[in-house]
Amino acid sequence: MAERAWRKMRLAEVAARPDVRAGLAEALSLGPLCDHCLGRLVAGADTGLTNEHRGRAVREALAAAPSPAPAGCSLCGGIFAAIDAWAARAREALAGWEFGTIAVASHPDPLPAAREQALWLRLGAGQAGSTSPWAAGDLAEPYKQEFNRLLGCRVCELAGCEADLKDPDITALADHAAGRVTLRVEPIFASGRYRKLVRGLPQCRWPQWPTSVQQLVVEPILRAAGGEEHFFHGCGREDVDVRCLGERPFVAEVVRPRRRRLDWAALAAEINRDGRIEVLGLAPCRRAEVARLKTLRPEKSYRALVRLAEEADEARLARLAGLAGPVRQRTPARVLRRRPDLDRIRRVVAITWRRVDGRTLELAVRTQAGLYVKELVSGDSGRTRPSVAEALGVAAECTELDVTAVHVD
Ligand SMILES: [Zn+2]
Repeated sequence: MAERAWRKMRLAEVAARPDVRAGLAEALSLGPLCDHCLGRLVAGADTGLTNEHRGRAVREALAAAPSPAPAGCSLCGGIFAAIDAWAARAREALAGWEFGTIAVASHPDPLPAAREQALWLRLGAGQAGSTSPWAAGDLAEPYKQEFNRLLGCRVCELAGCEADLKDPDITALADHAAGRVTLRVEPIFASGRYRKLVRGLPQCRWPQWPTSVQQLVVEPILRAAGGEEHFFHGCGREDVDVRCLGERPFVAEVVRPRRRRLDWAALAAEINRDGRIEVLGLAPCRRAEVARLKTLRPEKSYRALVRLAEEADEARLARLAGLAGPVRQRTPARVLRRRPDLDRIRRVVAITWRRVDGRTLELAVRTQAGLYVKELVSGDSGRTRPSVAEALGVAAECTELDVTAVHVD
């Protein structure tokens, strides 16, 4: 029988079916069951009820013996009567951590888990071709699942927080056999856009450099959050010697934060006091934002100062217009030690130029993501074609480069 069918049925209707009655009677004949463990055998029926209610109703319908003392349950051994004690342990573990949402997970005691499996098998679960109501596995609920739900609700009541099973701030892990609760603390994430106003600053931590955009942005957040470690996810990156005057999106991540409700405007002001970078739109975000950032491949605009080996007249400079279009680029020689040697086609979307003096040009170039602009200028010994050097027929070098815009949307 399909899952939806059980859910639509009233419990009394399900419990009145001879095959269900026979299964429940058999379960009770094997050993006493508490109301939770009895009710969980028909958890798929009547979504509005708790398993404890289902258990009581089924016991009445079968005119079965009254529920045993908690420790007398032959399946769970009374763990459902100990929810308050577990909630107290969870509260103790959570003390000193700030959170808005939690989830509960369990490392179950192998013994009751095995007893439950054996009982389900006895009732015909997972047996192909069986007509048992438990064959499809959608009528009974695992005890771990009920435990996690009940403990989660209790902790939320006590702590005044919300349950979030998909993306909680903290997961409380109940180790049933050890009687202990440990925590898995999710990082905090903050998104924003940065501008890098100076040269000589790498984007991410790099041993040779005293600081980085990452450290300037994330260390104040790390201190405010009382975290242990930080990561930085940029929407692409610029070289150490390249300024980023356009706004580049990023996500900052702080691991195991004690505090989550931070004054983000004050943090942005603190970050910006340094003067080497500027952050805009700093705000908390979810983990999914990191993945979204990595899928963005925005076009970028650059300002490049170009030094030519010899002066080029206007007629020659006019050839630069021909650079708009596809450019074939092998991985630049200067980064070959760090990156694989690939051959790729990237587009120059637009290019304009202005003569600064006899041998110096200023280019404004808009490119597809992933095009190396320094090599677009020099040609990189033929590894990038066409190039400014090739178009003009003179050696050309990019002496200054700025990202002037990151075209997100
Ligand atoms: Zn039980």
